[in-house]
Amino acid sequence: MVKQPNINKVARQHVEMAEFFSGGLTPKSTSPTAPMQQQSPRPPCSPQSIKELEDIAEQTRQCRKCDLGSLRTNAVPGEGSPAARIMFIGEAPGADEDAQARPFVGRAGQLLDRMIKACGLKRDEVWIGNILKCRPPDNRDPRPEEVIACLPYLQRQIELINPDIIVALGAHAAKTLLETTKSIGQLRGYFHEYYPGIGHRPIKLMATYHPAYLLRNYSDENRRRVWEDLKKVLAELGLPVPQTSAK
Ligand code: URA
Repeated sequence: MVKQPNINKVARQHVEMAEFFSGGLTPKSTSPTAPMQQQSPRPPCSPQSIKELEDIAEQTRQCRKCDLGSLRTNAVPGEGSPAARIMFIGEAPGADEDAQARPFVGRAGQLLDRMIKACGLKRDEVWIGNILKCRPPDNRDPRPEEVIACLPYLQRQIELINPDIIVALGAHAAKTLLETTKSIGQLRGYFHEYYPGIGHRPIKLMATYHPAYLLRNYSDENRRRVWEDLKKVLAELGLPVPQTSAK
């Protein structure tokens, strides 16, 4: 039996989206061609996987593999549902995240929250993390040796959560996960494949602009680009895709 869309949810999604795009884009209607099934139930994450995710979080709190370990206030292991269908991956914690031990809780995080809501999702339904678990001083770019030291934590988190889609937020996350030197302008808007390792299926990866970049460059065009990227993610997951039009 074909499941009917949840009208309340779709309406709420439109309101959230209008908020995210206020001034730039106007919601029209949900695409008649969009697949409308609810999120397909995922097998729950096994107790062993949940335990290993907790162990990884604890390891990051103890970690001294690079100099950032002694400079941080808190490690930021990442958070969200162990059964998430989408993992949002950013670059590294900033000052707010370092203070609260949680990813994306500052201004960029508030915009990410609005993006997630505009997708009709809740923050605790997805998983949010970063390439680095510790804040680089003065928010400088991560150094190669820091990424080399830290990446195995995230790689294992991805393997355990095994999402349907990774959304790489910004150039750093996209280039690191895809092992490419291409620019975010070249990478965004298309699905790529992330390889979690031998014996694992590749995971689709959508690259898009980092919310912090979007805040600094808050043009209609950039917001439209991010929203187009997220709509592709929703369509790929078989979730309702709200239609928008530029004003
Ligand atoms: N920017 C990031 O890349 N990650 C965060 O957690 C916060 C800001």
